[in-house]
Amino acid sequence: MTRFWLQESWRAGAVLCVALFFGVIFGHNGTFLFLGLLAYFAWHAWRLRRLARWLIYRNEAEPHFGDDIWGEVFYQIQRRKTRARKRERRLKAMIRLYRESSAALPDGAVILRADNSIEWMNEAAADMLGLRHNDAGRRIDNLVRHPEFVRFLHAGDYEDALEFASPVVEDRTMEIHIVPYGNEQRLLVTRDITRLHRLEVMRRDFIANVSHELSTPLTVISGYLESLIGRSGQSERVEAAFEQMRQQAERMTHLVNDLLQLSRLEIDDAHETETEVDVAAMLRGLVTDASMMGRQRPHEIVLEADESVVLRGVSKHLYSAFANLIRNAAQYTPVGGRIEIRWYGDRGGACFEVKDTGLGIPASAIPRLTERFYRVDTGRSRAVGGTGLGLSIVKHVLRNHQGNLQIESAPGKGSTFSCVFPGERVMLRDGRQCALL
Ligand code: ADP
Repeated sequence: MTRFWLQESWRAGAVLCVALFFGVIFGHNGTFLFLGLLAYFAWHAWRLRRLARWLIYRNEAEPHFGDDIWGEVFYQIQRRKTRARKRERRLKAMIRLYRESSAALPDGAVILRADNSIEWMNEAAADMLGLRHNDAGRRIDNLVRHPEFVRFLHAGDYEDALEFASPVVEDRTMEIHIVPYGNEQRLLVTRDITRLHRLEVMRRDFIANVSHELSTPLTVISGYLESLIGRSGQSERVEAAFEQMRQQAERMTHLVNDLLQLSRLEIDDAHETETEVDVAAMLRGLVTDASMMGRQRPHEIVLEADESVVLRGVSKHLYSAFANLIRNAAQYTPVGGRIEIRWYGDRGGACFEVKDTGLGIPASAIPRLTERFYRVDTGRSRAVGGTGLGLSIVKHVLRNHQGNLQIESAPGKGSTFSCVFPGERVMLRDGRQCALL
Protein backbone atom coordinates (compact mmCIF):
# COMPACT_ATOMS: atom_id res chain seq x y z
CA MET A 1 0.00 0.00 0.00
CA THR A 2 2.89 2.40 0.86
CA ARG A 3 4.12 2.00 -2.71
CA PHE A 4 0.81 3.36 -4.02
CA TRP A 5 0.78 6.28 -1.59
CA LEU A 6 4.31 7.18 -2.69
CA GLN A 7 3.29 6.90 -6.33
CA GLU A 8 0.24 9.10 -5.63
CA SER A 9 2.41 11.70 -3.84
CA TRP A 10 4.71 11.81 -6.90
CA ARG A 11 1.72 12.26 -9.18
CA ALA A 12 0.36 15.13 -7.05
CA GLY A 13 3.84 16.67 -6.94
CA ALA A 14 4.20 16.38 -10.74
CA VAL A 15 0.83 18.08 -11.31
CA LEU A 16 1.85 20.94 -9.00
CA CYS A 17 5.23 21.33 -10.75
CA VAL A 18 3.68 21.40 -14.24
CA ALA A 19 1.04 23.91 -13.06
CA LEU A 20 3.74 26.13 -11.50
CA PHE A 21 5.90 25.84 -14.64
CA PHE A 22 3.11 27.12 -16.90
CA GLY A 23 2.15 29.70 -14.28
CA VAL A 24 5.68 31.15 -14.33
CA ILE A 25 5.81 31.14 -18.19
CA PHE A 26 2.46 32.87 -18.57
CA GLY A 27 2.68 34.98 -15.41
CA HIS A 28 -0.52 33.53 -13.83
CA ASN A 29 0.75 31.30 -11.03
CA GLY A 30 -2.53 31.17 -9.11
CA THR A 31 -4.68 30.42 -12.15
CA PHE A 32 -2.44 27.57 -13.35
CA LEU A 33 -2.12 26.17 -9.84
CA PHE A 34 -5.93 26.20 -9.55
CA LEU A 35 -6.36 24.58 -12.98
CA GLY A 36 -3.78 21.90 -12.14
CA LEU A 37 -5.48 21.02 -8.85
CA LEU A 38 -8.90 21.06 -10.53
CA ALA A 39 -7.69 18.60 -13.17
CA TYR A 40 -6.13 16.41 -10.46
CA PHE A 41 -9.35 16.28 -8.38
CA ALA A 42 -11.53 15.80 -11.48
CA TRP A 43 -9.42 12.78 -12.40
CA HIS A 44 -9.88 11.28 -8.92
CA ALA A 45 -13.61 12.16 -8.86
CA TRP A 46 -14.09 10.34 -12.18
CA ARG A 47 -12.39 7.21 -10.84
CA LEU A 48 -14.39 7.39 -7.60
CA ARG A 49 -17.62 7.65 -9.63
CA ARG A 50 -16.69 4.53 -11.68
CA LEU A 51 -15.92 2.60 -8.52
CA ALA A 52 -19.15 3.74 -6.82
CA ARG A 53 -21.27 2.80 -9.87
CA TRP A 54 -19.66 -0.63 -10.01
CA LEU A 55 -20.40 -1.14 -6.31
CA ILE A 56 -23.99 0.11 -6.58
CA TYR A 57 -25.26 -1.25 -9.89
CA ARG A 58 -25.13 -4.97 -10.57
CA ASN A 59 -24.79 -4.67 -14.38
CA GLU A 60 -22.02 -2.08 -14.36
CA ALA A 61 -18.84 -3.24 -16.14
CA GLU A 62 -15.78 -3.85 -14.02
CA PRO A 63 -13.58 -0.72 -14.00
CA HIS A 64 -9.91 -1.14 -15.04
CA PHE A 65 -7.83 1.24 -13.01
CA GLY A 66 -4.36 -0.05 -13.69
CA ASP A 67 -1.53 -0.31 -11.24
CA ASP A 68 -2.23 2.69 -8.98
CA ILE A 69 -3.99 3.53 -5.71
CA TRP A 70 -7.47 3.13 -7.30
CA GLY A 71 -6.46 -0.21 -8.80
CA GLU A 72 -5.35 -1.35 -5.35
CA VAL A 73 -8.64 -0.15 -3.68
CA PHE A 74 -10.61 -1.94 -6.42
CA TYR A 75 -8.57 -5.13 -5.98
CA GLN A 76 -9.08 -5.12 -2.15
CA ILE A 77 -12.86 -4.57 -2.48
CA GLN A 78 -13.14 -7.32 -5.04
CA ARG A 79 -11.15 -9.71 -2.88
CA ARG A 80 -13.49 -9.08 0.07
CA LYS A 81 -16.55 -9.43 -2.13
CA THR A 82 -15.34 -12.80 -3.42
CA ARG A 83 -14.67 -13.96 0.14
CA ALA A 84 -18.11 -12.79 1.32
CA ARG A 85 -19.77 -14.52 -1.65
CA LYS A 86 -18.00 -17.80 -0.80
CA ARG A 87 -19.03 -17.46 2.87
CA GLU A 88 -22.62 -16.75 1.83
CA ARG A 89 -22.64 -19.82 -0.44
CA ARG A 90 -21.29 -21.96 2.42
CA LEU A 91 -23.90 -20.57 4.84
CA LYS A 92 -26.71 -21.13 2.35
CA ALA A 93 -25.59 -24.74 1.88
CA MET A 94 -25.51 -25.21 5.66
CA ILE A 95 -28.99 -23.72 6.09
CA ARG A 96 -30.30 -25.93 3.26
CA LEU A 97 -28.75 -28.99 4.90
CA TYR A 98 -30.18 -28.03 8.29
CA ARG A 99 -33.64 -27.42 6.80
CA GLU A 100 -33.57 -30.68 4.85
CA SER A 101 -32.51 -32.68 7.90
CA SER A 102 -35.04 -31.03 10.22
CA ALA A 103 -37.75 -31.49 7.57
CA ALA A 104 -36.90 -35.21 7.55
CA LEU A 105 -37.21 -35.44 11.36
CA PRO A 106 -40.14 -37.54 12.55
CA ASP A 107 -40.63 -35.02 15.39
CA GLY A 108 -42.18 -31.65 14.70
CA ALA A 109 -40.20 -28.47 15.34
CA VAL A 110 -41.53 -24.90 15.39
CA ILE A 111 -39.48 -21.79 16.11
CA LEU A 112 -41.59 -19.23 17.98
CA ARG A 113 -40.84 -15.54 18.41
CA ALA A 114 -41.46 -13.64 21.69
CA ASP A 115 -45.04 -12.74 20.60
CA ASN A 116 -45.82 -16.44 19.87
CA SER A 117 -45.72 -15.92 16.11
CA ILE A 118 -44.21 -18.70 14.00
CA GLU A 119 -40.75 -18.01 12.65
CA TRP A 120 -40.24 -21.41 11.02
CA MET A 121 -41.65 -24.94 11.19
CA ASN A 122 -40.93 -28.33 9.64
CA GLU A 123 -43.29 -30.68 7.78
CA ALA A 124 -43.93 -32.93 10.77
CA ALA A 125 -44.99 -29.99 12.97
CA ALA A 126 -47.34 -28.71 10.26
CA ASP A 127 -48.88 -32.20 9.95
CA MET A 128 -49.26 -32.77 13.70
CA LEU A 129 -50.61 -29.33 14.56
CA GLY A 130 -52.69 -28.88 11.41
CA LEU A 131 -50.71 -25.86 10.19
CA ARG A 132 -50.02 -24.70 6.63
CA HIS A 133 -46.76 -23.33 5.28
CA ASN A 134 -48.20 -19.87 4.78
CA ASP A 135 -49.02 -19.78 8.50
CA ALA A 136 -45.43 -18.69 9.16
CA GLY A 137 -45.56 -15.22 10.74
CA ARG A 138 -48.97 -15.85 12.34
CA ARG A 139 -49.50 -16.43 16.08
CA ILE A 140 -49.58 -20.12 16.96
CA ASP A 141 -52.19 -19.61 19.72
CA ASN A 142 -54.58 -18.26 17.06
CA LEU A 143 -54.03 -21.36 14.93
CA VAL A 144 -53.93 -24.13 17.55
CA ARG A 145 -56.79 -23.25 19.86
CA HIS A 146 -56.76 -26.32 22.08
CA PRO A 147 -57.35 -24.78 25.59
CA GLU A 148 -54.71 -26.96 27.26
CA PHE A 149 -52.14 -26.00 24.64
CA VAL A 150 -52.92 -22.27 24.92
CA ARG A 151 -52.70 -22.46 28.74
CA PHE A 152 -49.37 -24.32 28.55
CA LEU A 153 -47.92 -21.83 26.06
CA HIS A 154 -48.94 -18.80 28.12
CA ALA A 155 -47.98 -20.27 31.53
CA GLY A 156 -44.28 -19.90 30.73
CA ASP A 157 -43.32 -22.90 32.90
CA TYR A 158 -41.88 -25.33 30.40
CA GLU A 159 -40.18 -27.77 32.76
CA ASP A 160 -42.71 -30.54 32.11
CA ALA A 161 -44.04 -31.63 28.73
CA LEU A 162 -47.69 -31.29 27.75
CA GLU A 163 -49.66 -34.30 26.56
CA PHE A 164 -52.71 -33.56 24.50
CA ALA A 165 -55.01 -35.03 21.87
CA SER A 166 -54.02 -34.08 18.32
CA PRO A 167 -56.23 -31.30 16.92
CA VAL A 168 -55.93 -32.92 13.46
CA VAL A 169 -56.19 -36.69 13.72
CA GLU A 170 -58.60 -38.42 16.05
CA ASP A 171 -57.10 -40.87 18.56
CA ARG A 172 -53.63 -39.42 18.18
CA THR A 173 -51.81 -38.26 21.29
CA MET A 174 -48.99 -35.77 21.17
CA GLU A 175 -46.36 -34.59 23.56
CA ILE A 176 -45.15 -31.01 23.40
CA HIS A 177 -41.92 -29.64 24.81
CA ILE A 178 -40.99 -25.98 24.73
CA VAL A 179 -37.35 -24.98 25.04
CA PRO A 180 -36.59 -21.26 25.45
CA TYR A 181 -33.39 -20.07 23.75
CA GLY A 182 -31.70 -17.04 22.17
CA ASN A 183 -33.40 -13.67 22.26
CA GLU A 184 -36.79 -14.59 23.76
CA GLN A 185 -37.24 -17.27 21.13
CA ARG A 186 -38.62 -20.74 21.86
CA LEU A 187 -38.31 -24.07 20.15
CA LEU A 188 -41.53 -26.08 20.28
CA VAL A 189 -41.00 -29.80 19.74
CA THR A 190 -43.97 -32.08 19.07
CA ARG A 191 -43.81 -35.87 19.27
CA ASP A 192 -46.39 -38.47 18.38
CA ILE A 193 -46.75 -40.62 21.52
CA THR A 194 -49.95 -42.44 20.51
CA ARG A 195 -48.35 -45.87 20.91
CA LEU A 196 -46.81 -45.05 24.26
CA HIS A 197 -50.06 -43.50 25.42
CA ARG A 198 -52.02 -46.63 24.43
CA LEU A 199 -49.54 -48.83 26.29
CA GLU A 200 -49.80 -46.58 29.34
CA VAL A 201 -53.62 -46.73 29.23
CA MET A 202 -53.42 -50.53 28.86
CA ARG A 203 -51.07 -50.76 31.85
CA ARG A 204 -53.34 -48.53 33.95
CA ASP A 205 -56.46 -50.48 32.95
CA PHE A 206 -54.70 -53.77 33.63
CA ILE A 207 -53.71 -52.74 37.17
CA ALA A 208 -57.17 -51.29 37.84
CA ASN A 209 -58.89 -54.46 36.55
CA VAL A 210 -56.60 -56.87 38.40
CA SER A 211 -57.02 -54.92 41.64
CA HIS A 212 -60.76 -54.81 41.16
CA GLU A 213 -60.97 -58.54 40.40
CA LEU A 214 -58.85 -59.37 43.43
CA SER A 215 -60.82 -57.30 45.89
CA THR A 216 -63.99 -59.48 45.86
CA PRO A 217 -62.30 -62.85 46.56
CA LEU A 218 -60.16 -61.13 49.20
CA THR A 219 -63.27 -59.84 50.97
CA VAL A 220 -64.70 -63.37 51.00
CA ILE A 221 -61.45 -64.91 52.28
CA SER A 222 -61.12 -62.25 55.02
CA GLY A 223 -64.75 -62.78 56.04
CA TYR A 224 -64.32 -66.56 56.42
CA LEU A 225 -61.04 -66.10 58.28
CA GLU A 226 -62.64 -63.65 60.72
CA SER A 227 -65.35 -66.20 61.47
CA LEU A 228 -62.85 -69.08 61.83
CA ILE A 229 -60.59 -67.30 64.30
CA GLY A 230 -61.42 -67.87 67.95
CA ARG A 231 -63.68 -70.90 67.41
CA SER A 232 -63.75 -73.27 70.32
CA GLY A 233 -62.00 -76.61 70.06
CA GLN A 234 -59.23 -75.42 67.71
CA SER A 235 -55.64 -76.27 68.45
CA GLU A 236 -53.20 -73.39 69.07
CA ARG A 237 -51.33 -74.19 65.87
CA VAL A 238 -54.45 -73.94 63.75
CA GLU A 239 -55.45 -70.72 65.53
CA ALA A 240 -51.98 -69.21 64.84
CA ALA A 241 -52.20 -70.27 61.20
CA PHE A 242 -55.62 -68.60 60.83
CA GLU A 243 -54.33 -65.43 62.48
CA GLN A 244 -51.37 -65.30 60.10
CA MET A 245 -53.67 -65.85 57.12
CA ARG A 246 -55.93 -63.03 58.35
CA GLN A 247 -52.96 -60.67 58.65
CA GLN A 248 -51.72 -61.51 55.16
CA ALA A 249 -55.23 -61.14 53.72
CA GLU A 250 -55.47 -57.73 55.40
CA ARG A 251 -52.12 -56.73 53.93
CA MET A 252 -53.25 -57.80 50.48
CA THR A 253 -56.50 -55.86 50.90
CA HIS A 254 -54.50 -52.71 51.73
CA LEU A 255 -52.30 -53.30 48.72
CA VAL A 256 -55.23 -53.84 46.37
CA ASN A 257 -57.01 -50.75 47.75
CA ASP A 258 -53.89 -48.62 47.34
CA LEU A 259 -53.39 -49.89 43.77
CA LEU A 260 -57.01 -49.13 42.92
CA GLN A 261 -56.73 -45.66 44.38
CA LEU A 262 -53.49 -45.00 42.49
CA SER A 263 -54.99 -46.01 39.15
CA ARG A 264 -58.01 -43.75 39.77
CA LEU A 265 -55.71 -40.87 40.66
CA GLU A 266 -53.56 -41.47 37.57
CA ILE A 267 -56.58 -41.11 35.33
CA ASP A 268 -57.06 -37.70 36.99
CA ASP A 269 -60.80 -38.14 36.87
CA ALA A 270 -62.25 -34.75 35.99
CA HIS A 271 -65.66 -35.97 37.20
CA GLU A 272 -64.52 -35.98 40.82
CA THR A 273 -66.29 -33.09 42.49
CA GLU A 274 -64.15 -30.45 44.04
CA THR A 275 -65.43 -28.70 47.14
CA GLU A 276 -64.15 -26.18 49.64
CA VAL A 277 -62.40 -28.49 52.08
CA ASP A 278 -62.20 -27.52 55.75
CA VAL A 279 -58.69 -28.88 56.21
CA ALA A 280 -58.48 -27.96 59.90
CA ALA A 281 -61.56 -30.09 60.72
CA MET A 282 -60.24 -32.93 58.55
CA LEU A 283 -56.92 -32.85 60.41
CA ARG A 284 -58.60 -32.93 63.82
CA GLY A 285 -60.29 -36.20 62.79
CA LEU A 286 -57.05 -37.61 61.43
CA VAL A 287 -55.12 -36.72 64.58
CA THR A 288 -57.74 -38.45 66.72
CA ASP A 289 -57.41 -41.59 64.56
CA ALA A 290 -53.61 -41.43 64.74
CA SER A 291 -53.72 -41.09 68.53
CA MET A 292 -56.01 -44.14 68.76
CA MET A 293 -53.74 -46.06 66.40
CA GLY A 294 -50.70 -45.09 68.43
CA ARG A 295 -51.98 -46.50 71.70
CA GLN A 296 -49.35 -49.20 71.58
CA ARG A 297 -46.78 -46.78 70.16
CA PRO A 298 -47.51 -43.53 72.01
CA HIS A 299 -46.25 -40.31 70.49
CA GLU A 300 -46.77 -36.71 71.37
CA ILE A 301 -48.93 -35.36 68.55
CA VAL A 302 -49.29 -31.60 68.20
CA LEU A 303 -51.78 -30.05 65.78
CA GLU A 304 -51.70 -26.43 64.75
CA ALA A 305 -54.23 -25.69 62.02
CA ASP A 306 -55.49 -22.34 60.78
CA GLU A 307 -59.30 -22.68 60.74
CA SER A 308 -59.71 -19.77 58.33
CA VAL A 309 -57.69 -21.38 55.54
CA VAL A 310 -59.87 -23.45 53.21
CA LEU A 311 -58.63 -25.53 50.28
CA ARG A 312 -60.51 -26.19 47.04
CA GLY A 313 -60.08 -29.84 46.09
CA VAL A 314 -61.34 -33.42 46.16
CA SER A 315 -61.97 -34.07 49.85
CA LYS A 316 -61.47 -37.86 49.86
CA HIS A 317 -58.21 -37.61 47.92
CA LEU A 318 -56.83 -34.92 50.18
CA TYR A 319 -57.89 -36.98 53.19
CA SER A 320 -56.02 -39.97 51.84
CA ALA A 321 -52.82 -37.95 51.14
CA PHE A 322 -52.79 -36.29 54.57
CA ALA A 323 -53.63 -39.61 56.28
CA ASN A 324 -50.72 -41.33 54.51
CA LEU A 325 -48.26 -38.68 55.68
CA ILE A 326 -49.53 -38.74 59.28
CA ARG A 327 -49.56 -42.57 59.30
CA ASN A 328 -45.97 -42.64 58.01
CA ALA A 329 -44.84 -40.19 60.69
CA ALA A 330 -46.45 -42.38 63.36
CA GLN A 331 -45.06 -45.60 61.91
CA TYR A 332 -41.49 -44.42 61.41
CA THR A 333 -41.15 -42.56 64.72
CA PRO A 334 -40.06 -44.58 67.75
CA VAL A 335 -42.09 -44.59 70.97
CA GLY A 336 -42.00 -41.26 72.81
CA GLY A 337 -41.25 -39.26 69.65
CA ARG A 338 -42.99 -36.03 68.72
CA ILE A 339 -45.13 -35.38 65.64
CA GLU A 340 -46.06 -31.80 64.70
CA ILE A 341 -48.84 -31.28 62.16
CA ARG A 342 -49.39 -27.80 60.76
CA TRP A 343 -51.81 -26.26 58.28
CA TYR A 344 -51.30 -22.62 57.42
CA GLY A 345 -51.74 -20.12 54.60
CA ASP A 346 -49.47 -17.41 53.36
CA ARG A 347 -49.30 -15.06 50.40
CA GLY A 348 -48.05 -17.79 48.08
CA GLY A 349 -50.80 -20.34 48.95
CA ALA A 350 -51.12 -22.84 51.78
CA CYS A 351 -49.04 -25.59 53.32
CA PHE A 352 -49.75 -28.87 55.12
CA GLU A 353 -46.71 -29.97 57.07
CA VAL A 354 -45.92 -33.11 59.09
CA LYS A 355 -42.74 -33.01 61.12
CA ASP A 356 -41.52 -35.97 63.12
CA THR A 357 -38.55 -36.84 65.30
CA GLY A 358 -38.37 -40.33 63.79
CA LEU A 359 -35.84 -42.46 61.96
CA GLY A 360 -35.18 -39.99 59.16
CA ILE A 361 -34.27 -40.85 55.58
CA PRO A 362 -30.81 -40.84 53.93
CA ALA A 363 -30.40 -38.01 51.36
CA SER A 364 -29.77 -40.52 48.53
CA ALA A 365 -33.22 -42.13 49.10
CA ILE A 366 -35.27 -38.90 49.14
CA PRO A 367 -35.61 -38.47 45.33
CA ARG A 368 -36.92 -42.06 45.04
CA LEU A 369 -39.48 -41.99 47.85
CA THR A 370 -42.49 -41.34 45.61
CA GLU A 371 -41.68 -44.29 43.30
CA ARG A 372 -44.11 -47.18 43.61
CA PHE A 373 -42.98 -49.88 46.00
CA TYR A 374 -39.85 -47.99 46.94
CA ARG A 375 -38.95 -48.49 50.59
CA VAL A 376 -35.88 -47.28 52.43
CA ASP A 377 -35.95 -50.38 54.61
CA THR A 378 -38.16 -53.10 53.08
CA GLY A 379 -38.25 -55.29 56.18
CA ARG A 380 -39.24 -52.45 58.47
CA SER A 381 -41.90 -51.14 56.06
CA ARG A 382 -43.49 -54.61 55.80
CA ALA A 383 -43.33 -55.02 59.58
CA VAL A 384 -45.35 -51.82 60.10
CA GLY A 385 -47.82 -52.87 57.40
CA GLY A 386 -46.65 -50.48 54.69
CA THR A 387 -47.49 -51.15 51.03
CA GLY A 388 -44.79 -48.92 49.53
CA LEU A 389 -47.50 -47.00 47.67
CA GLY A 390 -48.38 -44.31 50.24
CA LEU A 391 -46.08 -41.57 48.96
CA SER A 392 -46.97 -42.36 45.32
CA ILE A 393 -50.59 -41.68 46.26
CA VAL A 394 -49.57 -38.42 47.96
CA LYS A 395 -47.64 -37.35 44.85
CA HIS A 396 -50.59 -38.04 42.54
CA VAL A 397 -53.09 -36.28 44.78
CA LEU A 398 -50.84 -33.23 44.91
CA ARG A 399 -50.29 -33.30 41.14
CA ASN A 400 -54.07 -33.29 40.63
CA HIS A 401 -54.28 -30.26 42.94
CA GLN A 402 -51.32 -28.45 41.31
CA GLY A 403 -49.40 -28.80 44.55
CA ASN A 404 -45.96 -30.19 45.26
CA LEU A 405 -44.34 -32.36 47.90
CA GLN A 406 -41.22 -31.16 49.69
CA ILE A 407 -39.20 -33.53 51.85
CA GLU A 408 -36.52 -32.61 54.35
CA SER A 409 -34.95 -35.37 56.36
CA ALA A 410 -31.80 -36.49 58.10
CA PRO A 411 -31.16 -40.02 59.42
CA GLY A 412 -31.67 -40.18 63.18
CA LYS A 413 -33.05 -36.63 63.36
CA GLY A 414 -36.50 -36.91 61.81
CA SER A 415 -38.33 -35.80 58.69
CA THR A 416 -40.57 -32.99 57.49
CA PHE A 417 -43.03 -33.65 54.66
CA SER A 418 -44.69 -30.49 53.28
CA CYS A 419 -47.56 -30.32 50.78
CA VAL A 420 -47.55 -26.88 49.18
CA PHE A 421 -50.72 -25.71 47.40
CA PRO A 422 -50.92 -22.78 44.99
CA GLY A 423 -52.77 -19.56 45.89
CA GLU A 424 -55.58 -20.06 43.37
CA ARG A 425 -56.71 -23.16 45.31
CA VAL A 426 -56.71 -21.45 48.69
CA MET A 427 -59.47 -19.33 50.20
CA LEU A 428 -59.99 -17.63 53.52
CA ARG A 429 -63.20 -18.20 55.45
CA ASP A 430 -64.65 -14.89 54.27
CA GLY A 431 -64.41 -16.15 50.70
CA ARG A 432 -61.46 -14.09 49.52
CA GLN A 433 -58.79 -15.92 47.57
CA CYS A 434 -55.48 -16.13 49.33
CA ALA A 435 -53.61 -14.93 46.26
CA LEU A 436 -55.55 -11.65 46.38
CA LEU A 437 -54.51 -10.86 49.93
P1 ADP B 1 -44.86 -47.46 53.07
O1 ADP B 1 -46.22 -47.96 52.85
O2 ADP B 1 -43.80 -48.49 52.98
O3 ADP B 1 -44.75 -46.58 54.25
P2 ADP B 1 -44.60 -45.04 51.52
O4 ADP B 1 -44.66 -44.81 50.07
O5 ADP B 1 -45.59 -44.35 52.39
O6 ADP B 1 -44.61 -46.59 51.74
O7 ADP B 1 -43.18 -44.62 52.00
C1 ADP B 1 -42.03 -45.06 51.29
C2 ADP B 1 -40.85 -45.24 52.22
O8 ADP B 1 -40.45 -43.96 52.72
C3 ADP B 1 -41.19 -46.03 53.47
O9 ADP B 1 -41.01 -47.40 53.23
C4 ADP B 1 -40.20 -45.50 54.50
O10 ADP B 1 -38.97 -46.19 54.36
C5 ADP B 1 -39.97 -44.07 54.04
N1 ADP B 1 -40.71 -43.09 54.86
C6 ADP B 1 -41.90 -42.53 54.58
N2 ADP B 1 -42.27 -41.66 55.54
C7 ADP B 1 -41.28 -41.67 56.45
C8 ADP B 1 -41.05 -40.97 57.69
N3 ADP B 1 -41.91 -40.07 58.16
N4 ADP B 1 -39.90 -41.22 58.34
C9 ADP B 1 -39.00 -42.12 57.87
N5 ADP B 1 -39.15 -42.81 56.72
C10 ADP B 1 -40.28 -42.60 56.02
